[in-house]
Amino acid sequence: MSLRSAGLGEPYDVIVIGAGLSGMYQLHRLRELGLSVRVFEAGDDVGGTWYWNRYPGARFDSESWTYGYSFSDEILREWEWSEHFAAQPETLRYCNFVADKLDLRRDIEFDCRIKAAAYDEAAGQWEVESEDGRRARARFLITAIGPLSAPTMPTIPGVESFRGEAYHTGTWPHRPVSFAGKRVAVIGTGATGVQAITEIAKTVGHLTVFQRTPNWCAPLHNSPIDPADQARIKARYPEIFETCRNSFGCFIHDADPRNALEVSSEEREAFFEQRYREPGFGIWMGNFRDVLINRDANATISDFMRRKIRERVRDPKIAEKLIPTNHGFGTRRVPLESGYYEVFNQDNVRLVDLRETPIERITPAGVRTTGAEHAVDMIVYATGFDAITGAFDRIEFRGIAGRRLRDKWAEGPRTYLGLQIEGFPNLFTLVGPHNAATFCNIPRCIEQNVDWVTALIRHMREKGHTRVEPTAEAEREWTQHVLDTGRRMLFTQVDSWMMGINSNVAGKQKRTFIVYAGGAPKYREKCDEVAAAAYVGFTFG
Ligand code: NAP
Repeated sequence: MSLRSAGLGEPYDVIVIGAGLSGMYQLHRLRELGLSVRVFEAGDDVGGTWYWNRYPGARFDSESWTYGYSFSDEILREWEWSEHFAAQPETLRYCNFVADKLDLRRDIEFDCRIKAAAYDEAAGQWEVESEDGRRARARFLITAIGPLSAPTMPTIPGVESFRGEAYHTGTWPHRPVSFAGKRVAVIGTGATGVQAITEIAKTVGHLTVFQRTPNWCAPLHNSPIDPADQARIKARYPEIFETCRNSFGCFIHDADPRNALEVSSEEREAFFEQRYREPGFGIWMGNFRDVLINRDANATISDFMRRKIRERVRDPKIAEKLIPTNHGFGTRRVPLESGYYEVFNQDNVRLVDLRETPIERITPAGVRTTGAEHAVDMIVYATGFDAITGAFDRIEFRGIAGRRLRDKWAEGPRTYLGLQIEGFPNLFTLVGPHNAATFCNIPRCIEQNVDWVTALIRHMREKGHTRVEPTAEAEREWTQHVLDTGRRMLFTQVDSWMMGINSNVAGKQKRTFIVYAGGAPKYREKCDEVAAAAYVGFTFG
């Protein structure tokens, strides 16, 4: 029954916000418990990140066959990925396939963006309200709102004045966009910009890339999955998922046990070369164990990558502009590319280094930097997201006594296991801050999050509990643990979305520990320990 017709109606057992990969799986698991569940989704269909990010070139950076859900043998048997790193349309088809298979849509309310959620202490219920005034109540509220779902436009003056076509990659139109014969500007060179630039360059009239900070990009080496590969993959699924389960970020790649500095320079070079030639994140997640921790070790891989850029870009001045100087390799999420550097060898592509000539304003005709006016027909904003906490900030969460989550997290998130918050009973934050899922081959961590939350709800039902909330002490200790795991990682010393930095959002200029950097296996162990100890750190009512 639609809420639109139901008004407030009967409360549900559980409300889930978001019908991406985590919301879909959470719905499925809760149904198995026989609970009444309603999912509210801002888009007009399932898929979350794969529904919104339809920009040209969008595709996996995890191997497709490590990314799909692992919980259903039937889905694993029936679904066939066509490429080792599938493109966005295929992944969206996959989400639809799963939604059909599990008949999920009947419990999902689409075109419904939740703007507020408040806990009613007397009733022991959460009430959510959508932007168009729909309201609903439930005992439990589960956020499945994704870590990178709040796109941010740059705070450059004049953005509204531009007269041509303008798109943010994270809200790309559902109709085809043509670049042929057009002068196109792309602002932003993160993982999204790198994919979009490479694809747009294939058909564009003229492309201008506005780069503020270059990133270290590594080759994706995508290829089709032939029938023999397909059979091998299907036969090996249990082994594949077991490997992911035991690796730091749940990728198929895990760190080499050696330190970079304990092998000879020839051996090191050969190892880097081998990793550079292999598909996927091996060069990042499967590198020597110290390259993301030890500065000297990191310098060796950064030096290798620097040479690769110089080899691939013909104009030495352009090559230097594309080489990062303010952070080492892997200390920001590594964009995987398919010919990105060669784009800058095209005559119709120009790189504008915003460190030399910052953007002054967007004009009706294009982009004006301190160096020149760049007239364009289209601007593509690949300017990223208000990461992890941004999606929470966009909903007014109020807990006990009307306390705002935004106020509680003003100095950075405080959570227990990245899944619950003191003062916000019965609220679960899948893939939320301080949760291993934010630094993960995400469906692998989503399944862990969802299974754990489902088990806790089952436990409560068995014990006759209706309310769960972490203690302030458990929250303090977990938050401290998150800070401790982060300190040894070099990425915590670098500005990026992983450290909560977004130059376009007020209050997001200070590095904040928003991701759990202890690795997925350690995180899972902690969660399992808590469950085994009768959910120590939680109070039940
Ligand atoms: P991002 O990494 O945050 O990159 C945003 C880019 O926009 C940066 O280059 C940033 O420059 C630039 N920018 C922002 N505001 C600007 C301004 N006012 N003026 C000029 N430049 C500006 O965001 P993203 O590229 O969307 O990627 C986010 C994450 O999504 C990735 O790290 C990855 O985890 C995920 N992702 C994954 C895939 C995949 O392959 N599966 C693809 C895309 C994205 P600064 O660096 O100087 O701030």
